[in-house]
Amino acid sequence: MSATQESFDPWAWRTSEVVLATPQPASTAPAIPLPWDHQLQQQLERAVAAAPTSADSLALAAELFAQPPTEALRQQADHRRQHLVGDLVTYVVNRNLNFTNHCLQHCSFCAFRRDPGADGAYWHSFDTLQQRAAEAARLGATELCIQGGLNPQAQLDGSALRYYQALLDALRQAAPGVHLHAFSPQELLFIAQQDSIPLQAVLEGLIASGLGSIPGTAAEVLDEAVRARLCPEKLSAREWCAVVLQAHRSGLRSTATLMAGHLETSQQRAGHLLTLVALQQVAWQHSQAGFSEFVLLPFIGAQAPAALRQRVGRDQPDLQAMLALTAQARLLLGHWIVNHQPSWVKLTLAGATEALRWGCNDLGGTLMEESITSAAGALGGTAQSVEALRGAAATLQRPVQQRTTLYGAVPACV
Ligand code: SF4
Repeated sequence: MSATQESFDPWAWRTSEVVLATPQPASTAPAIPLPWDHQLQQQLERAVAAAPTSADSLALAAELFAQPPTEALRQQADHRRQHLVGDLVTYVVNRNLNFTNHCLQHCSFCAFRRDPGADGAYWHSFDTLQQRAAEAARLGATELCIQGGLNPQAQLDGSALRYYQALLDALRQAAPGVHLHAFSPQELLFIAQQDSIPLQAVLEGLIASGLGSIPGTAAEVLDEAVRARLCPEKLSAREWCAVVLQAHRSGLRSTATLMAGHLETSQQRAGHLLTLVALQQVAWQHSQAGFSEFVLLPFIGAQAPAALRQRVGRDQPDLQAMLALTAQARLLLGHWIVNHQPSWVKLTLAGATEALRWGCNDLGGTLMEESITSAAGALGGTAQSVEALRGAAATLQRPVQQRTTLYGAVPACV
């Protein structure tokens, strides 16, 4: 048993192997995909419901993911969205708090991380973070989204968990009642490994300090071969699944993400999304709520480290390709994950508004100070006003409504 494996509950570790899809090799991709008709869609839905990681599901998903960005594909995804969640466009008033960019890893796409003492390196004090949290609450935020680099110095009394708990306690004090959406599966596992304690102790400690839900970031592409090239130091795809299984079982909801448009094949994209379905099925079988939404995160190359940027050969996302993927994700995820969010940071607000026509129903958050993707050279900006988000939905003549992190109604007094 490896040191990492010991961090997990045995049930989560066993199940993580079962849920992880093994994508077909790229050579099996259909040269000319079959037209994606109602019959194929139904076959896919039946196969996915029966066994998301089966050969049947993977083969049908490969057909779907070979579809070009046609008007027919857009309409199918748009109808599916309409059927599942109606016309309402939602958004959340939130603030990002990236408390440090010190990080001991070196992911090939990351322009955010710094070594301590390097140009642009920072590690904010609790005082600074509390001021920002209080300001966000005054501006009507219902959520703080808290993520940071993997900083081994982030300890209190020799414990990483105590530092992360103190961070949540401080934010809760500064912004009472604001939902704390914090710490990726990678950060959660990092805390467990720093303190040599089980992941379950980390989850329980953070929940006791007010953790409300977790971002499903650090998933990148849930495929070990892609991760070996993209982020070899990061937790493995299997470990990501194991953390999510345990978080869901502990009563935490999470988002689900896919970072796309770099080294991955369409089969690997399909495998990733089928893995998300398998995880959602496990959550529902155990009466857990599981994933709350799916967020597509297109790769931004502009300021990313040179090696990957040159290999991908594109500074900004290919919008048409990302819209096709948006539609394919809507058709594949079906009723398993019904809320789909584009990233206005990565696509710009105009691109994200267009994604609302390709299967999305949510515009994400105001963010107030996005810094991770902006460091990579994204063109969408670092914040959106409520008026801008509402105006974007209005251009499509769709109703728009503020939501909570977990897609509930926002009380009138907020
Ligand atoms: S993506 Fe996260 S873990 Fe990877 S280098 Fe950047 S900050 Fe560190």
